[in-house]
Amino acid sequence: MGDNKQKRRNRIIGIISLLILLIILTGCGKGQTSGDSGYSLADVTQTSYLMGTLVQAKVYAPTKEKGEEVLDTAFQQMDALEKKMSLNIPASEIIRVNEAAGSKPVQVSEDTFLVLQKGLEYSKLTEGSFDISIGPLVKLWGIGTDQARVPSADEIKQKLKLVDYQSVLLQPEGQQVYLEEEGMVLDVGGIAKGYAADVTKEIFQEAGIKHAYISIGGNVLVVGNKPDGSPWKIGIQNPYRPRGAYLAIVEVTDSTVVTSGDYERYFEENGVRYHHIIDPATGYPTRNGLKSVSIITHKSLNADALSTGVFVLGIERGLQLLERTPDVEGILITEDKEVYLTSGLQGKVRITDKEFSLAD
Ligand code: ADP
Ligand code: MG
Repeated sequence: MGDNKQKRRNRIIGIISLLILLIILTGCGKGQTSGDSGYSLADVTQTSYLMGTLVQAKVYAPTKEKGEEVLDTAFQQMDALEKKMSLNIPASEIIRVNEAAGSKPVQVSEDTFLVLQKGLEYSKLTEGSFDISIGPLVKLWGIGTDQARVPSADEIKQKLKLVDYQSVLLQPEGQQVYLEEEGMVLDVGGIAKGYAADVTKEIFQEAGIKHAYISIGGNVLVVGNKPDGSPWKIGIQNPYRPRGAYLAIVEVTDSTVVTSGDYERYFEENGVRYHHIIDPATGYPTRNGLKSVSIITHKSLNADALSTGVFVLGIERGLQLLERTPDVEGILITEDKEVYLTSGLQGKVRITDKEFSLAD
């Protein structure tokens, strides 16, 4: 594929604009702020490239040193999580499980086991629209890699047989994972970033941090409110514009906002966009009129699983699932630039781009 260089360049431009945007959105630079309790707080920011994306975190700490220490711990922990769960890091725990598919169970760490347990929970909840065993199809399409291509219908049919979360067996005793069929492939790409954000929040809270945020490729989790007592303002990406162009703003406290969209990773052929979220029912990237789904809730893992799952479920079934799931809200953006909100968000989302309007 000749446009790899271009892709890489676009990616870098995307990352830079995301970075600039985060700075604008969250108030820039290092400095001293006074918290709502009146104490002076140092704000410290750290940025890194992890889990295939740009990660940025900011904490308000009693001292600059304390803030740096907490951030170092958080980034080390995220790096360790990536090494356990990545499909691109040789001998990661997930790769070892995949290699033993159909032959034997593999013991994994507590983190990986928990992510898989939650992954299965959401696979059931979404009736398989989210499916942690989607790996064979993700590999076949290769979206986001140099090998991306449209597979034949027969290839898709063959791989579809290997996608079934019900054949993922978890044994809590000894944290054993077993894939029943040879060729099965776990892929936790749809939830691992969410989990990493949740773990980061725990690290912040254990260190006594009251105000902080973390953004993992635009998926945001905030701790508390801003030091001045106001809520954090989170922008919802305009799916038609470069990274950093927002169509709406939501104000949140102690929450996470996670988005899945067809614009994150894709290629186009004969006018069709093939993106990285695959419908396990068909084996093809979903095409149901949705451009993006943002989920707002407390746990980032849950939001991550649901953003991917609801994106596959589509507008109607997706909204139904969100309405019957307590403590979870969603913003669904359609190809027609309509914005669907769950009932708990009515009146709470400010649409800032005139091209978009609330659906009725
Ligand atoms: P992003 O990684 O861009 O934030 P998502 O959270 O929606 O977006 O995750 C997309 C990733 O999840 C894909 O790259 C792939 O690894 C995996 N995936 C794709 N389709 C599904 C699916 N139906 N169920 C579970 N995981 C999926
Ligand atoms: Mg997701």
